[in-house]
Amino acid sequence: MSNLDDLYRRVIMDHYKNPRNRGTMEDGSVTVNLNNPTCGDRISLQLQIEDGIVKDARFTGEGCSISMSSASMMTEAVKGKRTEQALELADQFSSLMKGEEASFDDYEDIEALSGVNKFPARIKCATLAWNALRKGVEHGHGQHEGTEN
Ligand code: ZN
Repeated sequence: MSNLDDLYRRVIMDHYKNPRNRGTMEDGSVTVNLNNPTCGDRISLQLQIEDGIVKDARFTGEGCSISMSSASMMTEAVKGKRTEQALELADQFSSLMKGEEASFDDYEDIEALSGVNKFPARIKCATLAWNALRKGVEHGHGQHEGTEN
């Protein structure tokens, strides 16, 4: 195992054990419930979007270390960003999962998930939170449900 793999694993486990932005908020304008039946991951993402800016992002849910660490990283990365920037980050993340070149200069922890592209069965675990974000930003206010298939 290379040192980089080791470092990436430590970053993922840190987010899994100490998730950022885990919880709920009173003034969230968008809620997205998404699940990934292949692995049993479930996420409920709340966003507070004001004036085209993601003011806050929180999540609850349960699942494997990949899905939960990805949700933790995603919420950190998009907080304070304009919605277009947040969607761009989601596109970058899709590229990362295809094994393409992608950079996350503002939040490099995300690159720890780059190794997931070698395990096709786990890609949906990693993209779950990002797809919830996409749904929330694109559909706007209200509550949305979905299943990844
Ligand atoms: Zn999973």
